[in-house]
Amino acid sequence: MTQSVYPFGLAPPSGRRRRIAVIAGDGIGPEVVAQALRAVEPLGIALDIQHFPWSADHYLKTQETLPKGALSELRDHFDAIFFGALGDPRVPDGVVAKDVLLGLRFGLDLYINLRPVQLLDEKLCPIKGKQRRDVNFWVLRENTEGPYVQMGGSFKRDTPDEVAISEDLNTRRGVERIIRAAYTLANVPHASSHKTPRVCMVDKANALPHAHGLWQRTFRQVAAEYPETTSSHLFVDVAAMEFVRTPERFDVVVTSNLFGDILTDLGAAICGGLGVAASGNIHPGRCSLFEPVHGSAPDIAGKGLANPLAAFLTLAMLYDHLGESQAGDRLRRAVEQVVLAGLVTRDLGGQLSTSECGDAVLRALTGATRN
Ligand code: ATP
Repeated sequence: MTQSVYPFGLAPPSGRRRRIAVIAGDGIGPEVVAQALRAVEPLGIALDIQHFPWSADHYLKTQETLPKGALSELRDHFDAIFFGALGDPRVPDGVVAKDVLLGLRFGLDLYINLRPVQLLDEKLCPIKGKQRRDVNFWVLRENTEGPYVQMGGSFKRDTPDEVAISEDLNTRRGVERIIRAAYTLANVPHASSHKTPRVCMVDKANALPHAHGLWQRTFRQVAAEYPETTSSHLFVDVAAMEFVRTPERFDVVVTSNLFGDILTDLGAAICGGLGVAASGNIHPGRCSLFEPVHGSAPDIAGKGLANPLAAFLTLAMLYDHLGESQAGDRLRRAVEQVVLAGLVTRDLGGQLSTSECGDAVLRALTGATRN
């Protein structure tokens, strides 16, 4: 966990500082982002950070979500995006979140949603008897296809005869590239906790023979190129059960957009919950977006209750992407230390506020011993 195994990073910088776009967003987003950014200076890598205001407040003032030109600016002039959360009850249909987050995922072609499922402390695991080494794997969720492309429609809406269709889009190219990414990750030294690396593909080809038949056929073809890797497949219902029953069997899990969405929340739950779940939305070698798995959590916003550790762990992934994995490792170790010392917020059974937990990470990072 504390050693980077990230194979999707940028090429080394050409003598200039890395440029980071920060979209803190709504609710607890700005609270946790502010804490995580405190780590930048002690980590000692000079970054050019630019804040973007896209959020519910900004939308209510200006009617702007993701402005024209934003995609090309981010793609061409930034190395990574650090994202808090979007979502606000004042904004109907989540239009800001949809335009900004889905706009960036699709527009920047961030096809890998990478989520570590790594237990930091066995007391955070709700499964009896599981230790840190038992819950230590990665999920790669396909991030640009599936029902999220929002193809479909409804007919005779709001009548008893209403018909509603959401299409599940799967392309050979899209499926193949995420499966290849899974094998790339599994074969990085230290990524696997088993003698041979393992990739497990999760689908539901028995119920969705066309869409997930494509996943199965593609998986078999790519797997044949990796005879040294143990390749297996599970139906998603069985995979959900195995995440809880035998998480130790997994190294790298690869799955579709919808199943990945669901399974990774389950993955977060077996590690202590949303307060410690980090993620990256990645296009290898290009500007990519890193966000905590949790949303804006309006119920706890502004109360000092938000756990900032997911944001710190997310920032560590961003450093990995920049090719600064030593900084990423340092930050992960600091988070691990505060969790093991119980210097955590209430969602993890501690007493600390958001900023006090941030203080604890900063102290761990700078080597100070006072609690
Ligand atoms: P979304 O629909 O974007 O996922 P949401 O508000 O429905 O947003 P989350 O914000 O992801 O869902 O989280 C669900 C609940 O989990 C929150 O309402 C909050 O109580 C709790 N929670 C989420 N993130 C944190 C956190 N960082 N610290 C403490 N509690 C959290």
